[in-house]
Amino acid sequence: MGADSIRRAAAILLVMLAGAAPWWAGNGAQASASANDAMVATIAAARERAAANDPRLKPALRFEEGGWIYLHLEGEPDAMGYQHGYLLGPEIEDGFAAVSAGMTHSTKRDWEFFRKAAKEMLWLKIDAEYQQELQGIVEGLRARTGSKLDVYDIVAFNAFEELPDYYVPWLDKQQKTPNAPNLKSPGNCSAFVATGSWTKDGQIVIAHNNWTSYKNGERWRIVFDIAPKNGYRMLMDGFPGVIASDDDFGINSDGLMVTETTITQFEGWDPNGKAEFVRARKALQYAGSIDEYTKIMLDGNNGGYANDWLLGDRKTGEIAQLELGLKAHKLWRTKDGVLSGSNWARDPKVLKEDTPKFDPNNKESSPNARRARWEELLKENKGKIDVALAEKMLGDHTDTAEKKEEANERTLCGHVDGSPRGIKEWDWEPYYPGGAVQGKATDSTMAKEMRIVARMGHPCGGDFLAKPFLAAHPEYAWQEPYLRDMKAGPWTEFRSGQASKE
Ligand SMILES: [Zn+2]
Repeated sequence: MGADSIRRAAAILLVMLAGAAPWWAGNGAQASASANDAMVATIAAARERAAANDPRLKPALRFEEGGWIYLHLEGEPDAMGYQHGYLLGPEIEDGFAAVSAGMTHSTKRDWEFFRKAAKEMLWLKIDAEYQQELQGIVEGLRARTGSKLDVYDIVAFNAFEELPDYYVPWLDKQQKTPNAPNLKSPGNCSAFVATGSWTKDGQIVIAHNNWTSYKNGERWRIVFDIAPKNGYRMLMDGFPGVIASDDDFGINSDGLMVTETTITQFEGWDPNGKAEFVRARKALQYAGSIDEYTKIMLDGNNGGYANDWLLGDRKTGEIAQLELGLKAHKLWRTKDGVLSGSNWARDPKVLKEDTPKFDPNNKESSPNARRARWEELLKENKGKIDVALAEKMLGDHTDTAEKKEEANERTLCGHVDGSPRGIKEWDWEPYYPGGAVQGKATDSTMAKEMRIVARMGHPCGGDFLAKPFLAAHPEYAWQEPYLRDMKAGPWTEFRSGQASKE
């Protein structure tokens, strides 16, 4: 049977099932229920078989290694979307459930609100190729799991870093929403990029660990190898169902090396702008220089998920920091230096206009304590920095505020679940189950060969265990359906075009 006839057969089965449903419902016997289950399973299997024969899947590949899922996507935008939706179907369903629960919980808005924002505010400003890719994800996902999610669900989900913490607080202020939740923009990640006399052999070294809730972070375990029809080849980490890296760490085949840390206590949103997840994906796909990267990020800047972008161009050895506020922004660049990030803004104009509540002088806050640690750690290691050292730095547990070794909210490798203080700047309550959830690093030589190293879980190698945590902290019981153990994997190398475990 060809793919089309299998699809037809599956459709006929579906019609039969729909027609028979009232009969089963009327009898309600256990035998009928199991007959129903068997029928559903048969249909699901037929649907999967049909979809698995789809020629669009042919160039795609998936394998697992070191706690990561490696996914190769290739071709036209809709085909890449289909591959993504199909090969990560179960992970997308699972990730969507965890992320959407967090979005509705924190904002006190229902999911329909986010769908409406996706449809009415974001969709029309998404470039045609990414609209096609997002639609492809829906099609692949439905073929694989029978999911009911549509493209507006997937767009709202892709915007999970920008809608709840940028758009909603802006809207609450506009509409003077009574009892509006105290939403704060996230402040996630520790990162640096170094070049010239700072590194062991003068080349660029770039490294990043992703700070987020363990609920989401444990699922942030995809290595995407993307070979699009147009633009550059990309290798990046990412989240199932999301088209941008989103935490962000990626390299492209024209020499760009990209990461970021989020700007703490950022305020602002432009409803007429272009979604950040679209600009970030586009910049990694099409920018061949620091200038081009900056231009794409500024085009339609909506203020969402405002970051300090750390960039490197292995062709020139130059590195840069793009502090991308909404009202203000600033670009620093150098061929001999180091730039670090831990969620603080530094341009006086950005500080004044975009982060008016952020206190850059409070040495006890997580962003500033980590900033001090980066400064001392990078200075101590000037001229010695390489990827192996970067891996160690991402797992660092020195608390500069209390001048001691203790994994907590102020260390480069964050463990906020152990902190009685939490992080008030991000509205993370005491013992919030969040922190550094994975790490990545690369250098110019590796980037030329499209290689990165990555470690799932805390970059120090420590494990987070959900059950004892929830027993000790019942205030986080609402996360119980989604919160899982986050066990650290080994540092693992991935490269573009990798066939399987090597
Ligand atoms: Zn750690």
